[in-house]
Formats: sequence, C-alpha cells, structure tokens
Amino acid sequence: MTDTIAAIATPSGTGGMAVIRISGSQAIARADSLFSVIRGKKPSEMPGYTCSYGYIKQENDCLDDVILTVFRAPHSYTGEDVVEISCHGGRFLSQKILRAVFCEDVRPAEAGEFTKRAFLNGKLSLTQAEAVADLISASGENAVRYARMLRDGATFRKISGFSAVLFEILSDLAVWADYPDEDIPGVDDSVLCRKLTDLLSSMQMLMKSYDYGRILREGLHTVIVGKPNVGKSTLFNTLSGYERSIVTDIAGTTRDVVEEQIRIGDVILRLSDTAGVHGTEDRIEQIGVERSLASLEQADLILAVFDMSAPLSGEDKALLEKLPAEKTIVVYNKSDKSDRPIPEFSTFQPVETVEISAKHQKNITELEQAVERFAGRHATPAEDGMIANERQRMCLEQAVHAVEEALNALQTGLAYDAVTVILEEAADALLQLTGERVTDKVVDTVFERFCVGK
Ligand code: GDP
Repeated sequence: MTDTIAAIATPSGTGGMAVIRISGSQAIARADSLFSVIRGKKPSEMPGYTCSYGYIKQENDCLDDVILTVFRAPHSYTGEDVVEISCHGGRFLSQKILRAVFCEDVRPAEAGEFTKRAFLNGKLSLTQAEAVADLISASGENAVRYARMLRDGATFRKISGFSAVLFEILSDLAVWADYPDEDIPGVDDSVLCRKLTDLLSSMQMLMKSYDYGRILREGLHTVIVGKPNVGKSTLFNTLSGYERSIVTDIAGTTRDVVEEQIRIGDVILRLSDTAGVHGTEDRIEQIGVERSLASLEQADLILAVFDMSAPLSGEDKALLEKLPAEKTIVVYNKSDKSDRPIPEFSTFQPVETVEISAKHQKNITELEQAVERFAGRHATPAEDGMIANERQRMCLEQAVHAVEEALNALQTGLAYDAVTVILEEAADALLQLTGERVTDKVVDTVFERFCVGK
C-alpha cells in the first residue's frame, strides 16, 4: 500500500482547531506544494517531530494560517511519512483545506485506514488497533483505562506468552518426530500434560475477562423485576430521570420490556423494566412474563423489587426461587408506607438489600451506590490484559478447545503426531487473535468499525 491518503482527524463541527492528517510517500511533497512557510522550515526540510508556522494556499488563494507538523517514516502513527495540518476549527474551513490537499497523488482515507496502515506496517498488533477504536468510544474513566491498557499491548503480551508456551511444546514435539528413539526432556506424557494444564487454566482465566470488557464497553445489563404494582416502573423512571414506563395502579401495565441507557457515576446501566414475573391467564401478558424470565438469565445485574408495605406474597416467594442471588440487589420499595423492619430471607442471600421509596425519591443515592459497588467488583480492568470483543473471544475459545482436545488425546494415549496437529490449531487461533496470521477479510472487518480520520 503506497498511495497517500488524507482525512480530517478531528470530529466534525465547530471547534477551536481541526487537524488534517496526510499519510504516505507523497505526504511531504504535497505539503511542500500547499504550504508557504512564515516561521520554521518548509516540510521537505523539516526533521520528524517538528512543526512550522505558515499559510495553506491554493493557487493564489490563502485558505488559513496553520501549524504544520511532520513525522518521518517509520517514526509516525502509521509508520509512513505523515503530515498534520492544524488549522482553525470549523467544518467549512477544514473541508476546504482537505479538498485542496486531494490531488492525483492524494486520495480520501477510508474509515480506520490510518490505523489499518499502522497495523500493516507493524506499529500495532490487531488487539492494540481494536483498542484504539475502544479508546475513541470510551464512555467513562474505567473504559478509558481499559482501552489504554489494551492499546499499550497488555493483551498482545499475554497472548504472546501463551503462544510462546505452545511453540516451545511444538518444537519439542518436532525434535521428537525427527528423533523418535531419543530421550527428549520436554516430550514425556506427564511433562506435556502439566504444561498444557497450566496453559489451559491461564487461557480460561483470560476468557473470563471478556465479560468485564463487555460491561465496560456496553454497560451493565440491568433488569428490574418484581410482581405487578411493587413500583418497578416508578423506579425505572426515577433512575432514568424521566417518564418512559407507564406507571399506573393497574397490575400488569408494563406488558413488554422497556429499555434505557443511564449513567450512575462511572457506570453505564442498560436498564430494562420488565412486565413483571407473575402468574397470568392473559396470553399477551404471558409473553411479557416469559420475556422477563429470559432477560433474567442474560442480565448482569437484577434489581428485584418488593413492596415493603405488604408481607411477602406467594408470588414474591416464587420469584425469589428464580433469582440468581449472586447478581441480585433486593430493593424494598414503598418505604414511606411502612415502618416495619425489612424482612430477612432465610436462604436467599442477595448481593445487597436497599430500602427505598421510588415515588418519593428516598434512598435512591444508596441504591445507586450499591449498583456502583457491584459494578466495581464486576467491571474492573485486569491490568495484565483482557479479551475485548467477540472476534478475540472466538479466537481464544478455539485455542482453549484445541488445548483441551490435545490434553484428551494425551490422556487417551493418542500418538504425539496427532497431538502436534491439534496444538498447531491452537497456535493458529492465537496468531489470528493478535493479527499475526489473519485474513484480509478479518482485517477489513476490524477497521470498518473505525471513523474516517483515525
Ligand atoms: P409496577 O407495576 O411494578 O411497574 O408498579 P408501578 O411503578 O406502576 O407502581 C404501582 C403503584 O405504586 C403506582 O400507583 C405508584 O405510584 C405506586 N408507587 C410506586 N413507588 C412507590 C413508593 O415508593 N411509595 C408509594 N407510596 N407508592 C409507590
């Protein structure tokens, strides 16, 4: 890929300044032809990492006074010669300069093309490139910390560690294949089993981190459940800050799942109000109840609402049996109507129990703090690498399956040749994960997620 590309790297709209980025073999020559220097040097004479002040001209028209920065290959974001023109902000002006930059030698960059070039030129691994997209879309302190950690190569290093173990085993097996009668230290059933078991448990640990990353990126999938009339919709509206769910005294008013994305501190909640879980003859309501039950399984967090002003009913107890305690916060609502102590569940041990009045906005902060504590335990970035997306998860899963299969093969006494073939599959999956062995199709799909200019 030798052609030269350009795009506006800053968001569209009005701002203090905008940056136009040009990358490729013709970047500096093109800058020379457009830029008249006032202070500093002309682009072709500028060393890398320096800037000059001057005008961008097109024929005799002066478009703007700008700061021009030069990065010389390979010491640039893309690994190619890069010129960045920092002009005055505003869509009109930056577009006008960008149009002036385009010529026979310079074409518009596609979405993510700068980062794609960085990947193809070996400046970033695929997992690091993906983290750049996450960094751009990060929606909170933790999400930024997590994306930066991945961008700095934590996952790449972790996966490379797994690959190194696999390649060591594979090379021992290759030596054994050449000299089957020799005593090769690494090639012994018990040594191989131990190495593969250790590797498998490290890979499975990393696999678990996928949920953390998903929660950071997408938010905590949170479901509000409870029997009709306990105040689920009122709570939903209180948390989301405005009336979305219909609040009435008629049981079963919320017939389907209503969704809203809200922020509590640094936590994003994807909040669903459900139809409630209760016995009903009404077919439409039944569908709502079935959906509520399904959403419980998929939820990261459940807010189970009970009416404090009435004793626990049979329906409440039936609901409790369906709730996974480790992801349930019990919310006792209508505290304004009751002064009796909150009932203790004999066997059910929720994450926390909070007493509130959704209608009168009492103790809502306490509930929000309980949610934050829960999120803190479930969405804290692991400093030594995490699985960030579905593509990476699938690759790691393939590697995990292959290592499990290799262990099985060893235990059932299969020949080392067969074990070698299976382990090669595992190594291949890991190389695909980091992008060291990957098809063009996968690369294109990864970079399609990016914005133009990145
Ligand atoms: P849902 O069926 O569980 O969604 O319940 P709703 O949110 O529709 O509320 C049912 C009724 O309870 C409505 O009349 C609400 O105004 C009332 N309600 C909700 N929260 C409270 C509360 O904290 N205190 C009191 N006194 N009433 C409440």
